[in-house]
Amino acid sequence: MDQIRVFTAARIHTMDRGRPEADAVATSEGRIVSVGSLESMEPWLRRNPHVVDDTYADRVLMPGFIDPHTHLRMSGTYMGLNYVGPIESASPTGIRAGLPDRDAVLNQLRSLASEASTGPDGRPEPITAWGYDPATQLGHLDRDMLDQISDTVPLWVCAYAPHIVYANTPMIELIGVDEKTDMHGLGRYPDGRLNGWFIETGAIGHAFKPVAASVYSEGFGREAIARLGGVARDAGITTTTDMLWGFENFETEWDEHRAAIDDGSLPLRMLMVPFEPRLRKRFGADALDFLASKRAEGDERLATHGVKWVNDGSYPSMTLKLGFPGYLDGEEGLTGEDPWDSLFDLMLPYWKAGVQIHSHANGDATVDMTLDLLERLQMAHPRFDHRFVIEHYCLSTPAQARRLAALGGGASVNAYFVRFRAQMHADSGFGPDRSEATARLGSLERAGAFFAVHSDFNLVVTPLSPLLVAEIAATRIGADGVTVLAPGERISVDRALRAITVDAAHLLHQDHRIGSIEVGKLADLTVLADDPYEVAPTDIGGIEVIGTVLGGEPT
Ligand SMILES: [Zn+2]
Repeated sequence: MDQIRVFTAARIHTMDRGRPEADAVATSEGRIVSVGSLESMEPWLRRNPHVVDDTYADRVLMPGFIDPHTHLRMSGTYMGLNYVGPIESASPTGIRAGLPDRDAVLNQLRSLASEASTGPDGRPEPITAWGYDPATQLGHLDRDMLDQISDTVPLWVCAYAPHIVYANTPMIELIGVDEKTDMHGLGRYPDGRLNGWFIETGAIGHAFKPVAASVYSEGFGREAIARLGGVARDAGITTTTDMLWGFENFETEWDEHRAAIDDGSLPLRMLMVPFEPRLRKRFGADALDFLASKRAEGDERLATHGVKWVNDGSYPSMTLKLGFPGYLDGEEGLTGEDPWDSLFDLMLPYWKAGVQIHSHANGDATVDMTLDLLERLQMAHPRFDHRFVIEHYCLSTPAQARRLAALGGGASVNAYFVRFRAQMHADSGFGPDRSEATARLGSLERAGAFFAVHSDFNLVVTPLSPLLVAEIAATRIGADGVTVLAPGERISVDRALRAITVDAAHLLHQDHRIGSIEVGKLADLTVLADDPYEVAPTDIGGIEVIGTVLGGEPT
């Protein structure tokens, strides 16, 4: 064995229920050799060369945090565009202020349009912006509104949760659609005229084409990965996934992550989860072979994992699918680009091949559909320990949690919405009942379904902070700072901290190698200034992250 490095700490929370606390952890060759005290690990230290590292002697150590659902490369890319969102946002040039409402956004676009540059063909270049949030900023944008800003400069505005692109008439012409176009997700006014909305992955992919060269400029991917890799490390994260691998290009995205890991600019373990519609389009019947070849290329830092579908819209952009009585204002939401009745045939080959399925469902109607789907898969080809995951699981019922558990599935839940969105949506979109019961972790726990929490960073209007989402899960205090939303859906601090460590590892089928501080596992640690078990639950999110250790090396 290589030299052993022992990290001492004021306290170590191992998240191994059998051996929950320690004050020293010995590491070698990237893995954990022993956990306990300097005395207890003496049989190892006596036999091997070792150093004792007291850097964290007055700190608290936990397993490296895991965010099981992010989009670092894509969100780092959006951060390079003009910003029109409601909250402060990091950018390549520093923090940018939020814009309070739609009028402020329209004014910003007016000023950008007035300075639009002219392209080689003598026509104005498109203005590309990201970050609009229809719920916080008081209503959607549309074509007529944007035409009033400019009917000559093409305007392209992507929602913060990028499930909608808004375009004016010159932009619609560049995208190349008109009133006669038949396309899923193309928005229309009641009279049938295009309203400038491009909704969900299929239509958005189309809307991207004329701006792709400016959004995806030379080297953008590497910059985006490095930018967001730093943001994630500073939040204490050591492992995350890219939940939309292949949205642009499978090989490019993989190679850029590989390069960023090799040059040290991405201090994380990455799991690349392919977006199935892109996989199918690109590789057809050879998709499983492609995944197998990529699996062989993977290692402990970069690996392919599972497969992903997106089957309804988003919570913040209010495009998810609801059951009765639906949206307050009669909106209908949107399904994903694959018709729901096609999903069983699409998923079955992956299910049979043992590939873990991640199926996005935000609204309770979509959760119902997904449970029906999982039941059909089980009937067609019974499996144990398949870890089928419903991604987001924002609006659900206790009955759905019990059915999910009975079918052996689990949920990766965006619980940030309880703090950042739920109260707003009581009177905008979902109504008071569903909004209050956003992210029902208590129901999942009582049902015995496995679950974890995630950020979806930053394709939704929330920050990236595992400690903060653990606080929210344990307290369910809403945006007003006082109201406890659906108190029976709270979980304990211990369970909330598991949901960002060992339970997140289980959900990703990685708990044999990460998620807890146990002998044999990878030596990934998060270093904290205070003990989240000791502070008040409302203060957990404010605990300072001192740093991370990845494979035994401080990052
Ligand atoms: Zn996502």
